[in-house]
Amino acid sequence: MFSTVSTYFTDFYRLFYPSICGCCDQPLTKGEAQLCVHCRLSLPFTQYEKMEENPVEKSLFGRAPIVYGSALLQFSKGESTQQLLHNIKYNGQRELAVFMGRMMGTRLQESGRLSAVDVLMPVPLHPQKEQVRGYNQSALLAEGMAAILPAEVQKNNLVRKVATATQTRKSRLERWENVEAVFDVRHPERLRGKHIMLVDDVLTTGATIEACVQALTEKADCSVSVAVLATPM
Ligand SMILES: [Zn+2]
Repeated sequence: MFSTVSTYFTDFYRLFYPSICGCCDQPLTKGEAQLCVHCRLSLPFTQYEKMEENPVEKSLFGRAPIVYGSALLQFSKGESTQQLLHNIKYNGQRELAVFMGRMMGTRLQESGRLSAVDVLMPVPLHPQKEQVRGYNQSALLAEGMAAILPAEVQKNNLVRKVATATQTRKSRLERWENVEAVFDVRHPERLRGKHIMLVDDVLTTGATIEACVQALTEKADCSVSVAVLATPM
């Protein structure tokens, strides 16, 4: 009886404050979490996690010495991944980010390609940007991944020193040379001998990841892999 009443109230509450799908904005039905069944089944998975020399890894060849690289979803403008990213970055849907992080962790674990990761390291936002947004979406993705993979999250070890706006005006070579000014490692001793997985929401030119890998491998004796939620590659 009690459960019937509480279910009734839950349904009643949802009528006025329904949880909505992170892709299509339609109300979720009972049993659905973050994404409706339709959107969840039609997500454009890249399957890169199972692929040797996938486009993410190829894009970083000769630029950043990584062990392994992957992206969960294919990004195309106007499609579900764009809406998902928008909700995670600009609509405050933190739980959706953690949920997608769990999905990233599960796919990586099931891929059979990934050697053990020790540290999940979100790519830091510029501190001012994070203050305005209230969170770093990449840190939430890393938290979700940590629920699946046996690795610790180190949030404040890799830090961003200057705004990337000043970097975008520079050529790749200039950016490469200016890496020291962008990212820094506060506690290299916590990374020594470890396999770090950098976590970010989107990989486009790879310039940010390149700079992070450079800073990590220069400052700490570690190996680095990369996992992003989405890529247009
Ligand atoms: Zn949906």
